[in-house]
Amino acid sequence: MAMERLSWTTREAFDVLVVGGGIIGAGIARDAALRGLKVALFEARDFGGGTTSGSTRLAHGGLRYLEMLDFGLVRMDLREREALLRNAPHLVKPLRFLVPIYDRSLFYRVKLSLGMWLYDVLSYDKSLPGRRFLTREEVLKAEPHLETQGLQGAATYYDAQIALPERLCLENVIEAREAGAMCANYAEVTGALATNGRVHGLRVRDGLNGEEFEVAGRAVVNASGPWFDSVAGRLSPSTEARVRTTKGIHLACPRVTNDALVLFSPDDRRLFFAIPWLGYTWLGTTDTDFKDDPRSANADADDAAYLMRSVREFLPSLRPEEVRFSNAGVRALVLEEGSASSVSRQHLVVDEARSGRPGLVSVIGGKLTGYRAIAEEATDAVCRSLGVAMKCQTAGRVLPGAREAQAAPEPKGPVSQATVDHLVSLYGSRASDVIRLAASSQALAEALAPGTPDIAAQVIFSVRTEQCLKVSDFLLRRTRLGFGPDQGRLALPRVATLMAAELGWSGDERDAECAAYVARIEDTQAFRRNGQQIPATKTDFSLAFAR
Ligand SMILES: Cc1cc2nc3c(=O)[nH]c(=O)nc-3n(C[C@H](O)[C@H](O)[C@H](O)COP(=O)(O)OP(=O)(O)OC[C@H]3O[C@@H](n4cnc5c(N)ncnc54)[C@H](O)[C@@H]3O)c2cc1C
Repeated sequence: MAMERLSWTTREAFDVLVVGGGIIGAGIARDAALRGLKVALFEARDFGGGTTSGSTRLAHGGLRYLEMLDFGLVRMDLREREALLRNAPHLVKPLRFLVPIYDRSLFYRVKLSLGMWLYDVLSYDKSLPGRRFLTREEVLKAEPHLETQGLQGAATYYDAQIALPERLCLENVIEAREAGAMCANYAEVTGALATNGRVHGLRVRDGLNGEEFEVAGRAVVNASGPWFDSVAGRLSPSTEARVRTTKGIHLACPRVTNDALVLFSPDDRRLFFAIPWLGYTWLGTTDTDFKDDPRSANADADDAAYLMRSVREFLPSLRPEEVRFSNAGVRALVLEEGSASSVSRQHLVVDEARSGRPGLVSVIGGKLTGYRAIAEEATDAVCRSLGVAMKCQTAGRVLPGAREAQAAPEPKGPVSQATVDHLVSLYGSRASDVIRLAASSQALAEALAPGTPDIAAQVIFSVRTEQCLKVSDFLLRRTRLGFGPDQGRLALPRVATLMAAELGWSGDERDAECAAYVARIEDTQAFRRNGQQIPATKTDFSLAFAR
């Protein structure tokens, strides 16, 4: 099976080949496949494992971008936020934001009111509640952990949260596949096939067996996010840098907030958030130039110290030693001078025919929130390049987990209501398929570890239907187990054993998978090294297997 995993694609002729399976590449594959194009997508690692999983996880217009006068960007994202709430309600939830006001002048309060008014105006078609102002007493009732000294009140507004953008990305892949696309993870694009400048295919390396092959396609889209410049260099003989890459980090702290807080760092007045996320207060983010391979980005001691110093002015009960883990993502911004946080978040879709590379379309920058609209614009460019007129189908279309199920997910046999609720929060209406699997065998209905709501059937379901090929795919991107207090360590042996049986791994392969996962989550503790401002928590990396 290994040799035929991808090499069959050499015998096909695709209309469009997509490089990169982050939210934008997955969105393009879905859009193009639903229009009727023959699509193949190649992702070097796992779907959604790049910047998509390093984001703050908000579907927002971004109050901050109003200050930068990016009205077009804010309006597009507010429209797309609304579409996300409608089309993926199991993954995208409304979230209230508070902007606490401390010792501020009348001028500041008027400026804030104006900004909030404009945010409301630009989202005139929203379903979410509008802005409000809270008195000091109301704020303290809502957020008892907030610093009281100097607090005057707060402004509130609503945006939305995508707690698991990894799964949003995956649902785009799933629908692309249903519409006939071939979507491969662990398949790295190493070069382009071109004749007289025109791109007509890609060279791809299978990351699982090392096999290299060539795939024919009439158009190619570079949707590789922060890897854009390095991928562009593989697709064209000479290219200049077009992307500025900046790192942003987050820290998962014990939960001390009920709403999302918009705060300004006393260090440099930068805006950052303290957000309720999966039982934590999720702090972020930072914005610093980052030139290395985005894969190597981690939160370091300086990043963590900056965020902790900043937040303790507002939430003094948060203690650095109680930070559970971190994550980091690398933004791809359209190359511009100036401080990292002042660079526009606008995206660019470029038909490279004008730079002498017909058949190649580039997507540079863009936010998670606007991914569907960006995918539409990129697919429009592909259609123009192919000389076909095919209308976008995605604007009002629900994602697979938001479809009405034939049978609504409900408790069955050994599957309890609590498990059903958890499964629905991950899979939406597709949870019915997991429940059916679990009801077929007592062993598959069992929890993957004591105290976790996740069950064995999810592993089988993910391997068989969600292209889950590695233990880290399952723990970090098919479920939220890797974000639990133990970062998935307790479930690791059972997950690896079940995957080994499904995928035919040897004992050594299974152990290597576990070691790779442990190394991955140790990276999320990198901020404790060097400066040592934040002492390490005690970790137990026991890999005891139930054979
Ligand atoms: C700290 C931070 C916070 C953010 N917060 C938000 C937010 O709250 N809301 C919001 O809307 N946006 C946010 N963003 C922006 C958002 O995360 C990104 O715009 C979005 O995830 C970009 O998706 P992408 O598909 O372009 O990139 P990626 O998700 O990085 O996908 C690119 C993919 O290309 C693959 N690839 C690379 N090279 C190759 C190759 N040779 N062959 C095949 N595949 C390859 C990579 O493995 C990767 O998976 C944030 C970004 C950061 C960094």
